[in-house]
Amino acid sequence: MTDLADRTDLEAVSASFERAAPTTILEWAVGQFGDAITVACSFEDGVLPHMANSVKPGIEIVFLDTQYHFAETLWFVEELRRRYHLNLRVMTPLAEPDNRWQADVAGCCGVRKVEPLNRALAGKAAWVTGLKRADAPTRAAAPIVAWDAARDMVKINPLANWTPLDVDVYSAEHGLPANPLAERGYPSIGCWPCTKAVAPGDDPRSGRWVGLDKTECGLHT
Ligand code: SF4
Repeated sequence: MTDLADRTDLEAVSASFERAAPTTILEWAVGQFGDAITVACSFEDGVLPHMANSVKPGIEIVFLDTQYHFAETLWFVEELRRRYHLNLRVMTPLAEPDNRWQADVAGCCGVRKVEPLNRALAGKAAWVTGLKRADAPTRAAAPIVAWDAARDMVKINPLANWTPLDVDVYSAEHGLPANPLAERGYPSIGCWPCTKAVAPGDDPRSGRWVGLDKTECGLHT
């Protein structure tokens, strides 16, 4: 693992990757951080787990099992794990299933997503996400590489520049299976209580926390 000389160097690194292929960014990340890196995957599609595992077979891939995922997503996670021999680490909440999502979505995401992710990242130097600028206006300025001050580590978004078309092309080229929900109007897939189908052309994340003043679960804020 190579230490970055200065956290401000990350801005220059990020800028240098604006036109780079995601595989190039992942290769840099693996070279920098070795085994001290974790890939966090939502499994709404198979691109990031497949790509990361192709760049470094056996790289640790984390899935946050909130205990409120759609059955289709749980099937998809297992299908990708089995098909590509993923080194999958499933994180579960410390809390038992409850009704908190009905009245306190911030607290529920905190217990079922943020805390398990932070636990998964303990002792790591960097994490990789599938965040894309095209996901939502709130993500339009997401850097490719940045310092995650809240977690005291580097955060890498190798797909930041990718569009839904890029995802479709990569998935087709590599014969990836799809989350069955994708063709049923779910371009962004979270927990079943907080995710609805959207109309074609709508903001992909507009089906998340519908009717609430909430757009992010807290992993990226
Ligand atoms: Fe809870 Fe909904 Fe957040 Fe899932 S998305 S952790 S059910 S509040």
